[in-house]
Order: sequence, then structure tokens, then C-alpha cells
Amino acid sequence: MQAVRNFFKTFLLIELLQGLALTGRHLFARKITVQYPEERTPMSPRFRGLHALRRYPNGEERCIACKLCEAVCPAMAITIESEQRDDGTRRTTRYDIDLTKCIFCGFCEESCPVDSIVETHVLEYHGEQRGDLLYTKEMLLAIGDHYEKDIAAARAADAPYR
Ligand code: SF4
Ligand code: SF4
Repeated sequence: MQAVRNFFKTFLLIELLQGLALTGRHLFARKITVQYPEERTPMSPRFRGLHALRRYPNGEERCIACKLCEAVCPAMAITIESEQRDDGTRRTTRYDIDLTKCIFCGFCEESCPVDSIVETHVLEYHGEQRGDLLYTKEMLLAIGDHYEKDIAAARAADAPYR
């Protein structure tokens, strides 16, 4: 009986017609394709993107090289080296984040006592060759400088930075 049913199914092209019916149903339905980058989908206020290192308004780096972020990072993506300056303060001489290891958990941001390392909403970055996603201190500070106004405003409003 099953063989006869299969024969008629094949002979009458039932499955082909079912497939075409499905195509036909979607032909006139509202399109949900997003024309990125002209169109964007909503971003969660909790989104965690590219990292940035912040400075104080006088230009001084916030980071005091306490290495809490390095210690808490579950992916061991952060590498810090530091030294004491002539004025007795401690600052990093190296602050690298390997974004190929990072899982964007936000622990580094949460652990920082001086609000230095933060994660921005930036998601459009890429690397074209090995090593491009190893972000150095200079790169992270430059990102912080670029977005500082928005980050500071969001922090002041106690709202997520978007
Ligand atoms: S977001 Fe998480 S995984 Fe990425 S550097 Fe920070 S602590 Fe490490
Ligand atoms: S970014 Fe913050 S947590 Fe990490 S070493 Fe600097 S001060 Fe410490």
C-alpha cells in the first residue's frame, strides 16, 4: 500500500507542488530581509562590543595597572605589563586584548575599579590577517578617545552605553 502511495506521490509530483505552494505563500508575504548596513536590527542595551580604554578629562589614563581584569578574564585574553612612574604612580606599559580569544563576557569591565576598560557598542570591526585582532594599549586608548563623550554621558545617566 505504501509503495502504491509513493508511486502516485511521485507520478503526480505532489511534493514538488507542495514546495511550490510554500514558495508561493512567501512570495507575497511581508519581506523581513534587513538591508544591512542601510538598515539595522535593534541592538540590546546589554550588548557588549569592542573594548576601549578610557582617560580622565585631563588626559591621564584611568588604568592603574591593578591587573584585576587580566586575572578575572576567563579566556585569558588580556595581557598586562606595568611599571612604576617617576611620580610613584603605576601605569601599564603593555595592555593587549586578543579579540580572537575574547568571549565578550564583560567581566573585565565589571572588575575595573576605575572604570577604565569598557566595552562599547561597536560591532563593525574586522581583521584581514593574523594578528589584526590583537588590540594593543594604543589602539584601545584611541577607541576610548573616540567614543569618550558617549561613554561618559551614558555613565553619568547610569544607562547602558549605546
Ligand atoms: S570581555 Fe570577558 S573574555 Fe573578553 S577580555 Fe573581557 S573578561 Fe576577557
Ligand atoms: S583596566 Fe581596570 S582592572 Fe584592568 S588593570 Fe587597568 S585599572 Fe585594573
